[in-house]
Amino acid sequence: MNVSQRSRRYDAIVVGVGGMGSAAAYYLARRGKRVLGLERFGIPHTMGSSHGHTRIIRLAYYEHPSYVVLLRRAYELWREIQETAKERLLYMTGSVDAGPEDSWVFRGSWDSCKLHDLPHEVLTGAELRRRYPAYHLPPQTAALLQPEGGFLTPERCIVSYVMAAQALGAEFHAFEKVLEWTPLEGGVRVRTDRDTYEADKLVVTAGAWNGALLDVLNGLAVPERQVLAWLQPIRPEYFRPSTFPVFNLLVDEGRFYGFPVFGVPGFKFGKYHHLEEDVDPDSVDREVHERDERLLRSFAERYFPDGCGPTMNLQTCMFTNTEDNHFVIDLHPDYPQVSLASPCSGHGFKFASVVGEIMADLAEKGMTRHDIGLFRLDRLLRQRTPSASPAYRTERPEQTLHEYNGRSHSFPRTEDVKPFW
Ligand SMILES: Cc1cc2nc3c(=O)[nH]c(=O)nc-3n(C[C@H](O)[C@H](O)[C@H](O)COP(=O)(O)OP(=O)(O)OC[C@H]3O[C@@H](n4cnc5c(N)ncnc54)[C@H](O)[C@@H]3O)c2cc1C
Repeated sequence: MNVSQRSRRYDAIVVGVGGMGSAAAYYLARRGKRVLGLERFGIPHTMGSSHGHTRIIRLAYYEHPSYVVLLRRAYELWREIQETAKERLLYMTGSVDAGPEDSWVFRGSWDSCKLHDLPHEVLTGAELRRRYPAYHLPPQTAALLQPEGGFLTPERCIVSYVMAAQALGAEFHAFEKVLEWTPLEGGVRVRTDRDTYEADKLVVTAGAWNGALLDVLNGLAVPERQVLAWLQPIRPEYFRPSTFPVFNLLVDEGRFYGFPVFGVPGFKFGKYHHLEEDVDPDSVDREVHERDERLLRSFAERYFPDGCGPTMNLQTCMFTNTEDNHFVIDLHPDYPQVSLASPCSGHGFKFASVVGEIMADLAEKGMTRHDIGLFRLDRLLRQRTPSASPAYRTERPEQTLHEYNGRSHSFPRTEDVKPFW
């Protein structure tokens, strides 16, 4: 073996240097592993799922109370990496999870606080407005306020993890697309549009493109177009990080999330599952149209009228959804030297730190001390229909809007999904 061949062998190759891949590369490098991170775009970039200046982090977790355990570790690790990076990545504003009193957003959030003994307050819409005047929710709305909510700065988190990994010797190649991987006896071979590499372990964290690299995920982790708006507040004093907690709101129009002004001269918000457009990540419509802006502005006009000045920015982004909206984090079912993470369904970024640690565990030991039972791939494989059509498109009777996730078509409700936890 000559020198150049030898230099292409790594302990681990990480495919996709976004939220999850950057953290996975860092935690592998910290364990002394020789790591190569391959990224098809620049680092960071705006083509995937981890751009737009801010991502909500919150401890109260209506999606499933089990996430709280992982979140505690995620917070710890975010604080650690911001210390290493000497840069603030985590901003605390408090978080509001609100909706009708019997809604899964409010109830689920409240249950998670009670189960995990999290500090919280329950307020009516009217009380919330007295405390935070930007919020104009219907008076009968139930709002859970949790003080440890806030936001992360996603592009800076990725940069911080990559730089910390580089300092430990990790290599990153941007603008290098992985075309295929092949299992070998005791490793993998990875072919890109520039070169071929070998490694003992492969970590696939390719976000919306995971399905293209992993047949087992095809149709089970489905990319969806999202749109974000930033509006200049009419009363800027109501929309500062100190006066405006991040929110998740279930209202007549669907489920929305939002942030104080940060990084862009406008307060940012979006609707979960926006226009319900499942997409191919290579041909997703990245333009923002009048119908996108109209949908978002009409939400703000009704619930945040003091935030509803001129539009400052509009962007598209992609969710990658599973049928039950829980993540996929697992070893490949046929090749244990390959691990994969698809932690999105619109709520994954806050976990990137702990997912990075989990991916390092899976690559290093094939197991992790974290409980990832909820995220096992086999729960989705069991539901897969034998036909080629993706599971999420299976026709079921329509459920009413807001029954699950603010998404009007045929996902099951959270409570119908049997967790493996
Ligand atoms: C609009 C929007 C708002 C959101 N809000 C929140 C929020 O407030 N809080 C929260 O916790 N989560 C939120 N999420 C979800 C969160 O952002 C995602 O879960 C997270 O960013 C997913 O990270 P990832 O690493 O899986 O994907 P990405 O960060 O997209 O990384 C995947 C990477 O793989 C690369 N790649 C793909 N294929 C290849 C290949 N063949 N070769 C090389 N590289 C490849 C891609 O270019 C990309 O860089 C939001 C998502 C969106 C879209």
